[in-house]
Amino acid sequence: MASGRSITLALEIDWLSRLFSVDMGIDLGTCNTLVCVRGEGIVLNEPSVVAVRKGTNIVLNNGEAVGFAAKDMLGKTPGSISAVRPLKDGVISDFAVTEAMLGYFIKKVNGKSTRIFGPRVVIAIPSGITSVEKQAVYESAERAGARRVYLVHEPMAAAIGAGLPVAEPTASMIVDIGGGTSEIAIISLAAIAECESLRVAGDDFDEAIANHMKRVHGLLIGEQTAERIKIEIGSAAPTGPEMKMDVRGRDMKSGLPRKIEVTSQEIREALSEPVGLIAEAVVRVLEKAKPELAADLVDNGITIAGGGALLRGIDKVFHQATGLDVKIADEPLSCVARGTSNYLENLDLFKDTLESDADSV
Ligand code: ADP
Ligand code: MG
Repeated sequence: MASGRSITLALEIDWLSRLFSVDMGIDLGTCNTLVCVRGEGIVLNEPSVVAVRKGTNIVLNNGEAVGFAAKDMLGKTPGSISAVRPLKDGVISDFAVTEAMLGYFIKKVNGKSTRIFGPRVVIAIPSGITSVEKQAVYESAERAGARRVYLVHEPMAAAIGAGLPVAEPTASMIVDIGGGTSEIAIISLAAIAECESLRVAGDDFDEAIANHMKRVHGLLIGEQTAERIKIEIGSAAPTGPEMKMDVRGRDMKSGLPRKIEVTSQEIREALSEPVGLIAEAVVRVLEKAKPELAADLVDNGITIAGGGALLRGIDKVFHQATGLDVKIADEPLSCVARGTSNYLENLDLFKDTLESDADSV
């Protein structure tokens, strides 16, 4: 009876706390930051970009030139300001800029909340960041008004968001291909059994395309053009009919604007090196797995999340490399954010096995 009453009490406290405060899951990605609020879904999805005065770490507009606002400013006053992606390589390159970014996003979401207490926040962080960097994320979120802060490793959040049975005594494998890093992990019983954080991901696909254009066509193209080529005609393995696309850039010899036509075959070749490096890392993580976990994966297969999961044929490449079934998570770009939100709802499940907050990291 007593335990029944304490469960009821716990449920009431949980209900009351939700009335007064909001629960927020944040995917602090190298390319995009997403915020998922319990009961509301994804409420913010902006680039992890900050506009600073060139050569400084001073965030423009009193710390508000973040996300879309930063991108807008870049277009208008290109000379004196520059864009910073503070987590570009999965490590925090500048603490002040990261804090400004995280604080801005938390306030932007919580500002709309009429609740009287600060939010409870779960932040998914790249698994390669150090304990000093974790502490910085934790403190930044507190300074931005969070009442309670929890950190969760990105591949765990991705696996939860992809709906994998992470808490069960069976192995799940997730490959989260973001912009700056690819996070590969095998998870069982709500803990990461094996993982690797590789600094080869979507940005490297873009770079490989830009290098190919330079080397083969003598054409200089910008990062955004390279990304557009990847999204429009890029592939890791042949999937459907081959495609073509007009690409504009600057001719290296004449210095003048030029347009050429590129094919999906040549882009696939250009992408083969970075794609191959990720496939090799997937194999490495599998080779480290204990036999029991490896056995589970014969049935459970591999799930891919993150923006890189949208590269055509990437599942085929991983299947060829491992022999396992490979599937793409539903809505791969928002997996981590949904996973962090879900993590908060099931804190009890993860309490003993995951860092509950930065005090313990
Ligand atoms: P992060 O978690 O590091 O912020 P995301 O999971 O948001 O990264 O993924 C961003 C990456 O996904 C970028 O490199 C982007 O170019 C890539 N991306 C987005 N859409 C597609 C697509 N349709 N095809 C291939 N790559 C894509
Ligand atoms: Mg990510």
